[in-house]
Amino acid sequence: RPARTRKPDWIRVKAPTSAGFSETRELMRRLNLATVCEEAACPNIGECWTKKHATVMILGDVCTRACAFCNVKTGMPRAVDNLEPQHVADAAAEMGLSHIVITSVDRDDLPDGGASQFVKVIEALRRTTPATTVEILTPDFRNKAEAAVESIVAARPDVYNHNLETVPRLYPTIRPGARYYASLRLLESVKRHDPSIFTKSGLMTGLGEQRLEVHQVMDDMRSADVDFLTMGQYLQPTPRHAKVEEFTTPQQFSAYGAIARAKGFLLVAATPLTRSSYHAGDDFEKMRAA
Ligand code: SF4
Ligand code: SF4
Repeated sequence: RPARTRKPDWIRVKAPTSAGFSETRELMRRLNLATVCEEAACPNIGECWTKKHATVMILGDVCTRACAFCNVKTGMPRAVDNLEPQHVADAAAEMGLSHIVITSVDRDDLPDGGASQFVKVIEALRRTTPATTVEILTPDFRNKAEAAVESIVAARPDVYNHNLETVPRLYPTIRPGARYYASLRLLESVKRHDPSIFTKSGLMTGLGEQRLEVHQVMDDMRSADVDFLTMGQYLQPTPRHAKVEEFTTPQQFSAYGAIARAKGFLLVAATPLTRSSYHAGDDFEKMRAA
């Protein structure tokens, strides 16, 4: 590997060996739940699972798309598990979560894109753990987005996240199944339907994007009234995935963070290891207390 793509010192992670880690894994297995922590090979799994923070991935662990940055398996997805909503709620109760992040694979094969399963999960959480704040991270629902957003928003999650992932110029290679402006419109429509729901989006760095392009994406997000922004370094999960063009320095992340705050985001997390769900609960609680 050339020096510029060797992992720098600031990408350091704790090995997943703690008791908390094993307990989280055992719980997920017992309840038959997939996590994006494992499926996306997230570098923070040691830290998060030790603290019993996990991001549940509903609607199975097989995706109908194949984004160039993503480690999730592509193929023919499994049938929807009707027990899954209650299992998610049981996991939240057993882990004593004050905040939960729920995401899913893309289910372009389902008539509603999987929106009704999000609704059922939110409803199960509200019944079982009413004090837990709920953050959902959804796919773009392609041509079903309008109906999907309307039904999910009606279930009133606390935070609605949809990641733009990268700058529009890189969509054809990095997010080939998605459209930049469709994703932006989805975020805008969440706010239009219910302005009391916080909206959130995220970007990966190191895929070849230019700084000015990133600033433009921030402006686009703010014009769609997006409240929270996360930014983190892209890491290549396997040699088959898009390569890392650059390691963004911690200083550059701080600079991005300062610009984002100046543009009016309520909450900004921008560090090499930031992921959508990294410290999501702590940051959300801090913001609400402020
Ligand atoms: Fe899981 Fe998110 Fe933590 Fe990664 S950052 S381990 S995806 S909770
Ligand atoms: Fe991964 Fe989501 Fe793309 Fe599917 S749609 S490959 S889960 S990033």
